[in-house]
Amino acid sequence: MKYVNCPVCGHKLLEGKAQSCVRVKCSKCKTIVEVSIGDNNVALAPIPKATVNAPQ
Ligand SMILES: [Zn+2]
Repeated sequence: MKYVNCPVCGHKLLEGKAQSCVRVKCSKCKTIVEVSIGDNNVALAPIPKATVNAPQ
């Protein structure tokens, strides 16, 4: 399992298995983060709130 922390505030977000991709909202700073977990690395991409709230 890989431990993933919020790239903005450092709050622990989740533990995940390799080869998974999730979108999670930080409970501390409310940033939505897209998390891609590889075998040896974890990629974090904060998603701006403006993008999330924009009409589709
Ligand atoms: Zn955070």
